[in-house]
Parts: sequence; structure tokens; C-alpha cells
Amino acid sequence: MDFLWLFLLYMTFLLLCVSGFCFLRGRSSSSLDAVFHTVEQAFSFVLPTCLQRYIDSCFHTRSVAFVVLHLILDALVFAEYTWEVLDYSLELEMNWMLVFLPYTLISVNLYLFYKCCAVDPGTVTKQNEALCTQVYEYDDVIFHRGSKCPTCHLLKPARSKHCGVCGSCVQRFDHHCVWVNNCIGAMNIRYFLLYLLSLTLTAVSLAVVITGFLLQVVLLSHMMTAAYVDSEGHEEIAGIVFIIQHLFLTFPRIVFTLGFLVILILLLGGYTCFLWYLSITNQTTNEWYKARRWQSSTPGSPKGYSRGILTNMREIFQPHTRYRKQR
Ligand SMILES: [Zn+2]
Ligand SMILES: [Zn+2]
Repeated sequence: MDFLWLFLLYMTFLLLCVSGFCFLRGRSSSSLDAVFHTVEQAFSFVLPTCLQRYIDSCFHTRSVAFVVLHLILDALVFAEYTWEVLDYSLELEMNWMLVFLPYTLISVNLYLFYKCCAVDPGTVTKQNEALCTQVYEYDDVIFHRGSKCPTCHLLKPARSKHCGVCGSCVQRFDHHCVWVNNCIGAMNIRYFLLYLLSLTLTAVSLAVVITGFLLQVVLLSHMMTAAYVDSEGHEEIAGIVFIIQHLFLTFPRIVFTLGFLVILILLLGGYTCFLWYLSITNQTTNEWYKARRWQSSTPGSPKGYSRGILTNMREIFQPHTRYRKQR
């Protein structure tokens, strides 16, 4: 295949990945709503109507579609890594611990993924309603004392929110995540934070091994000092563009995978940092968004729930002690 076509195919693939990510994230409220809306509109021209309807339904009802897609993407990346990179890397005598590190990280990640999917995020029920309303104080700015959920007909605890997808109020609601088909709340936010971290580290470890492997190939084949004869018969030294073109044509799937991982690291890494920042400052995504909206209409800011970094992190990683204290 001609390099130009291959390159165009590659760029289309990467753009689809970025657009897909924006499309999925676009369902949550954020300041990038306008950008997401544009991407959504672009997608509406590309995707068939029935597929659009199906994707739309996945955001309004609980569905395992994205859980399955997540697992398929994991399987594809690791199949490619095992099939093409693993053997070559070991033959090139790369550090075996580094080469096998992605398998360890993905095992941890899959366990955390399962916990995010399976653990109750902190559903408010008739039985625990009274206890939940005592865990956090009402700030009477974002969360008002005595307000009831019109759907569940239960008192709304401070920091909770009703999830339209799950059909219940969730304690310390962060957001509903389609990738884990569950809400992220008081009881599973710790798994979600570790899940994001382990997924980013898995992608980084894969990208490091693949980059190391490609660099080894370049060095061992003496490509840096190689020369070629151009169409006019002149001998030219192979530059960086020539080397990239050569790698593209020799290992197209490996370079595709590396490009996908780089995009994933940038997007996922940014999101992971953002969510860890919110946790350290004891804010949920829901509160962060509401506080920004509130600030734009009224000067000052809501009091917030931060009690210092250590206490904030303890509240996330030991939510049960927070509940026990209030008993
Ligand atoms: Zn509710
Ligand atoms: Zn939900």
C-alpha cells in the first residue's frame, strides 16, 4: 500500500479515536460542551441512524455495550502486543521485567474495572436514607436541607444526586460512567481513581516497550546512517521522515497501536489528573460543574467540603469510617 494512503488511513483512525472519546465524554456536562456538540453533529453524518439511536439508548439506560467495547479494545491491543512485539522484544534482549510489566498492570486494571462495575456506588434507599442525610452538612447553596428527590421520593442527602440512568439517588455522586455501566459515588470512587491510574500506567508501559522496540530496530539496522537513491539518481542520507515511513510500511499495526496508545495516554492522563485533583480537594465532578455555574452568576464560591489533603483522601479510601462516625 502506498505510504500516503496508509498515512491517511492512520490519521483517520486517530481522528476517529479522538472524536469517539469526545463524543462519549460529551454526554457529561463540562465547559467543552460546545466542542462536544460539534463532534456529535459530525458523528451524526457518519453513523447510520439506527446505530445513533442504539448509542443514544446506551446513555439513557444501563447497557453493557461499552463494557464489552472496553474489553474488546483491551483484547485487541494486547493481542497485537503479544503477537508482534513480545517475541521481537525478547529476541532483542530488552529487559524482560519491562516487557512483561503491561500484563501485570492490565491484570490489576481488570480487577479494578470489575470492582467499579460491580460495587454499589452508594445508592440511597428507604433503609439508609436517615444515615445518608447525616454524613455531610448541607451548604444551602448547592445542596438544600429538606429537599426531596421527585423520582425516589426520598430526602436528598448533601452531595447526592439522582442518576437518571440508574434510576436512583447516589451518595457523594460524581458522575455516571458508561464505560463501567455504573455510577461513580461514595463507595466506588476509590476503585475508579485506581482504575484510571492503572489504565494510564498500562498504556504508558505498552508505549514505552513499543517505542523501545522500534528504536532498537532503527539502531540495529543502521537506518540512521543509511542512504538511498532518489528519483533523479542522487544518493540521499535517510532522514527522520524516511525512517518513519520505513517503520510505517514494515510494522503498520505496531505503529498504529503506538499512535492509539499515545492519544489514549494524553486524553486519559489528563482526565486522571483532573479527577485526582478533584479528590485531593474533596470535590465531585458534579459539584465542580455546579460551583462553576454558580460562580458565573453569583460572586464568591460555595464553602466546599475540603478538610485537608490527608482527611480528604481518607474519606475516599475509607468511606465506611465516615459513615460509622455519624452513627
Ligand atoms: Zn432519586
Ligand atoms: Zn448511574
